[in-house]
Amino acid sequence: MTPGPTQVADSVYHARSLRTTNPDLDPAFYDFYRDTCRLFGHLIHTENECFVLGGEGILGLEAACASLTEPGDRVLVIDNGIFGKGFADFVSMYQGNPVTWSLDYHNPLSPEKLRDYLEKDHDFKYATLVHSDTPSGLLNPVEKLCPVLKEYGILTVVDSVTGMFADELDVDAAQIDIVCGGSQKALSAPPGLTMVAVSQDAFAAMHDRKTPIRSFYANLLTFENYYKDQWFPYTMPVSDIMGIRQALENVAADPEHLKRHAKIAAATRKALTEAGLTLYLESGFASSVTVFYVPEGMKAQDILDTMVEKHHIMIAGCFDVLAGKVIRIGHMGNNANETDMIETLKALAQTLRELGFEVQADPAERFQAYMK
Ligand SMILES: *Cc1c(COP(=O)(O)O)cnc(C)c1O
Repeated sequence: MTPGPTQVADSVYHARSLRTTNPDLDPAFYDFYRDTCRLFGHLIHTENECFVLGGEGILGLEAACASLTEPGDRVLVIDNGIFGKGFADFVSMYQGNPVTWSLDYHNPLSPEKLRDYLEKDHDFKYATLVHSDTPSGLLNPVEKLCPVLKEYGILTVVDSVTGMFADELDVDAAQIDIVCGGSQKALSAPPGLTMVAVSQDAFAAMHDRKTPIRSFYANLLTFENYYKDQWFPYTMPVSDIMGIRQALENVAADPEHLKRHAKIAAATRKALTEAGLTLYLESGFASSVTVFYVPEGMKAQDILDTMVEKHHIMIAGCFDVLAGKVIRIGHMGNNANETDMIETLKALAQTLRELGFEVQADPAERFQAYMK
């Protein structure tokens, strides 16, 4: 019950076990790959060109920065979470000039505040932001923020690795130039793939570069004409792609997918609060993960260890500035089911009692009441 990698459905494991073709040479695989990308695009509401790249979620973030950044380019890095801040490293690595705008980690950025900032300074080639920042569970309103950036002629790179398929994402309405996803979060495929959707404006910026893209593996232009040329820049991980296709079809076949995430997340927040725990965020709660403070006098690691040793349930701590401070329960993708959440909350209540915390209301019971 961690915030990714999440539990994988049997249908996805089965798809990954099927006999495979030669993905470089078989025209049928190019069709299968294109249809898989189109299904992905359909589910995130975009007409933009979509690709599935052979590499974990981080590859998408790095590929976006590698493909857009030229030496000296000013890039606005919107930092209201740990992944938000992390984009500055990719920008610097490709010799861009990141301007990190550090904000409150407990509340999302508002479009008004963004507009005020851009009034004073908007000389940026592109901006980076995170849809759903998994270490804190913060959800940024990308559908309101990205159009403001576009008004100022700034391209947008959005990390929606945990956002997509757990919370609403309409890429075309949000006018996002490059959006990145990962296989192992709310899509519930195993780790190993990143999915990206790239706008015409983003492709134009890559073609307009004065210097070449300083990467091969992270160069999005190498995929631009794969179908016309019937050529992939590297051999596609065919079993992984058969798995993600099934995972996408599972989401497509479930009209309640997002509604269930929202309901489970809301019930979890209420249940934990009534149990006497304190949530990390003040507002802007993502539906993928619930993050609460480690109760005073307790160690995060003791909570995690007891959960695994006594109850065989893995939840997560955190890293970077939140290391040791918070605990995270991931309820996205296949983890977003009532049965597993009830087991997890029962085990958490027992664990906390055992470690000396006075649980005020039974969180599993409260959760069930809110799910009715
Ligand atoms: C999981 C995740 C990624 C991918 O990072 P890994 O730590 O390699 O899994 C990127 N961005 C966000 C917001 C994520 O949640």
